[in-house]
Amino acid sequence: MNIHEYQAKELLAKFGVPVPAGYAALSVDEAVAAAGKLPGPLYVVKAQIHAGGRGKGKFKELPAEAKGGVRLARTADEVRAAASEMLGNTLVTVQTGEQGKQVNRLYVTDGVDIAKEFYLALLVDRATGRVAFVVSTEGGMDIETVAHDTPEKIHTFSVDPATGFMPHHGRAVAKALGLTGDLAKQAQSLAGKVYDTFLGTDAAQIEINPLAVTDDGKLMVLDAKVGFDSNAAFRHKDLLALRDETEEDPMELEASKYDLAYIKLDGDIGCMVNGAGLAMATMDIIKLNGMFPANFLDVGGGASTEKVTAAFKIILSDPAVKGILVNIFGGIMRCDIIAEGIIAAAKEVNLSVPLVVRLEGTNVEKGKEILAGSGLPIVAANDLGDAAKKIVAEVKAA
Ligand code: ADP
Ligand code: MG
Repeated sequence: MNIHEYQAKELLAKFGVPVPAGYAALSVDEAVAAAGKLPGPLYVVKAQIHAGGRGKGKFKELPAEAKGGVRLARTADEVRAAASEMLGNTLVTVQTGEQGKQVNRLYVTDGVDIAKEFYLALLVDRATGRVAFVVSTEGGMDIETVAHDTPEKIHTFSVDPATGFMPHHGRAVAKALGLTGDLAKQAQSLAGKVYDTFLGTDAAQIEINPLAVTDDGKLMVLDAKVGFDSNAAFRHKDLLALRDETEEDPMELEASKYDLAYIKLDGDIGCMVNGAGLAMATMDIIKLNGMFPANFLDVGGGASTEKVTAAFKIILSDPAVKGILVNIFGGIMRCDIIAEGIIAAAKEVNLSVPLVVRLEGTNVEKGKEILAGSGLPIVAANDLGDAAKKIVAEVKAA
């Protein structure tokens, strides 16, 4: 689960990390009022969407020369102008995809005079199984280019969970950022507090870019992206309130209500599979047969009729789907129960595209009989290869 920049900053501030003052705003008037509560003379009006690259982004509805999703303003009128240009419009950035994201809220924050922009992130390093710092002196809006062209400028080191964050980790951050004296002390303290935030919220990532040095020698977080590990969500009921469902893909959101692991993809064949490994294999074999999967969908081990129906509805609500391949292994679930679930679901949703079903496992013969006797145009397949060939042939013939 991801949250907005202003929420991430409020969270970091709770853990003592220095961030500029600011207020979220849902309307132009609220944005102007927010600026009124800040000391000035410089304000920054920032589009709040779950995507980075806002500064260099472009609004679909505005001329190409118009500014992006991060605007400096010096007066209430400039705040008003920036807010009215952004709210309701669609911001396209390198991270949104070409369809962009509608800007429904803004963050009006203190403008600071920046001397230097750094990059600091915390994430789970899967190779070491530890929380790792990723630090670079080359922060700002081009970190992707730095990672690509000059990876040696990015320093990474992990924290042993047995010791937790130690003073030497703080010193390593300061050193990687080339800081000495008071700024080095600030960096050590800040790194420890960001680490506390990470652990305290069961974060999956905290990305601070830029971490700025101001003209008056202060280290400050000017942009933060925070995502949480949803497996730990039950431990953080308060954080769930930060969820903004309007930022999520509508189909993925629907799937999450039924506890289905669903990811929308670009192809034509909708897949319904149980188990992530089997789902990956199913996607691979569709590609091997010359077509592309429209989604990844894992209905899980104990798929009920209700879950199967929800999964069917989600797959069919995607207009790109030209055929469905169901590939279920009856382990915990018996194949006859699954077959009944598929039939019930197919009847309820008025199946309009070819459906190929491959069942394997406990009570598979009984399951196949039930499908064959259903009177529905379901094509049965014997194994995964057969299933992929059949769905591709059915879609091409349709
Ligand atoms: P994004 O990464 O989505 O483009 P940022 O919040 O990083 O958005 O803003 C882009 C750039 O705008 C920053 O690299 C920084 O130079 C400038 N900026 C952002 N916030 C402030 C601020 N509070 N004061 C001054 N400049 C800012
Ligand atoms: Mg940024």
